[in-house]
Amino acid sequence: MHERLLNDELRLFRDTFRDWLKREVTPHYEKWEHDGGCPREIYRKAGEQGFLLLNQPSTFGGLDLDFRFSAVLIEEIALAGANGLAFWLHSDIIAPYVEHFGNDAQKKFWLPKMASGESIAAIAMSEPGTGSDLQAMQMTAVREGDDWVLNGTKTFISNGINSDVVIVAAKTPAETAAKAPATAKLKYTPLTLFIVEKSRKGLSVGRKLEKMGLKAQDTAELFFSDCRVPNANVLGEVGQGFLYLTKSLGRERLCMAIHSIAAARYALALTLDYIDSRHAFGKKISEFQNTRFKLADIASEIEVTQAFLDQCVLDLNENRDLTMNAAVAKLKATEVLSRVTDECLQLFGGWGYMAEYPISRAYADARVWRIFGGTSEIMREIIARKVLE
Ligand SMILES: Cc1cc2nc3c(=O)[nH]c(=O)nc-3n(C[C@H](O)[C@H](O)[C@H](O)COP(=O)(O)OP(=O)(O)OC[C@H]3O[C@@H](n4cnc5c(N)ncnc54)[C@H](O)[C@@H]3O)c2cc1C
Repeated sequence: MHERLLNDELRLFRDTFRDWLKREVTPHYEKWEHDGGCPREIYRKAGEQGFLLLNQPSTFGGLDLDFRFSAVLIEEIALAGANGLAFWLHSDIIAPYVEHFGNDAQKKFWLPKMASGESIAAIAMSEPGTGSDLQAMQMTAVREGDDWVLNGTKTFISNGINSDVVIVAAKTPAETAAKAPATAKLKYTPLTLFIVEKSRKGLSVGRKLEKMGLKAQDTAELFFSDCRVPNANVLGEVGQGFLYLTKSLGRERLCMAIHSIAAARYALALTLDYIDSRHAFGKKISEFQNTRFKLADIASEIEVTQAFLDQCVLDLNENRDLTMNAAVAKLKATEVLSRVTDECLQLFGGWGYMAEYPISRAYADARVWRIFGGTSEIMREIIARKVLE
């Protein structure tokens, strides 16, 4: 967020969290990348310091803070180059599902555990055969007495290994579908969300997926084979899952956009250091006109996008509808990040391609932001739909 939007409280929070990252994350991050995931205890440590579930009510273990604090936290993680630390997913995507759609018993049980870091959360929508087209989901949930029986496979699940609890989307019988308003362009699919403990019989975790980037984030497959879940674990109402997902995706996309622009700033900072010390043809790399113009383009893209994101952060704080603007924010910010990391890596020459240089990691980490949480193409579809309304 632009410095001028911060007050003393936000600055203090930022500095405290930044120091914590320097102590607890940066020294270990390379090892976590090597291990293919962060240790579970980092969530406990963050919980102890009050860095999880910032926006949730204190009655459920949260901190009653507004979304600007989340934005600052997300930015600091990206500015530290710790892209695999998915606190935003746990606190800003999954906790709001429980907070907004869960009943009191579910909130009382899960939110305090998530705030303390005792329980780590994941969300499972994507399947091997479908990610963008959620209506084509194959996973089913069938009612049997007081239980639902879940069958199917989820894949690409972030926190798939470390999590204790997963919000799972599954198809329920056709008659459970939420009724779409007459003006809706899409028919609603009968999806239902379930809170599923990882310890449930019939749920097994598949392999940890090898990724080109975000290596410190564990991503896995989940298999459900006659996994029985009590009716009390239905999140919200049966058949309303598609509505809940579409309502929540705006916030998710904004978080990703915020991360992306801060990650672009991180790549720029790495580059500024390098080009000032590297020489060619008797000059610093920073002195070539090409370098200066590239930096000007990069800075312009970052600043213009930042201004839009800041407005979105304030809009979210005021509960304004973000459907269109969050899609714009994600599309723009993630594409800026891709361009910026590519241009920055180029300024490193061959060293940029070497894994020992953090810019190569920044480049590899950047690629996924245009894909997950809705691809750039899906963002364009959402925006086009609004434009054509
Ligand atoms: C590292 C990582 C972590 C992830 N974490 C999670 C997670 O925690 N939980 C979860 O549920 N999912 C997660 N995902 C899945 C992610 O959200 C999906 O990969 C993404 O939504 C795209 O779906 P897909 O991979 O099935 O691609 P597809 O839907 O098969 O798309 C393939 C291509 O077709 C394009 N396309 C599809 N539909 C259209 C259209 N209508 N118009 C134009 N082009 C179109 C896409 O843009 C894309 O280029 C993760 C993915 C990754 C890579």
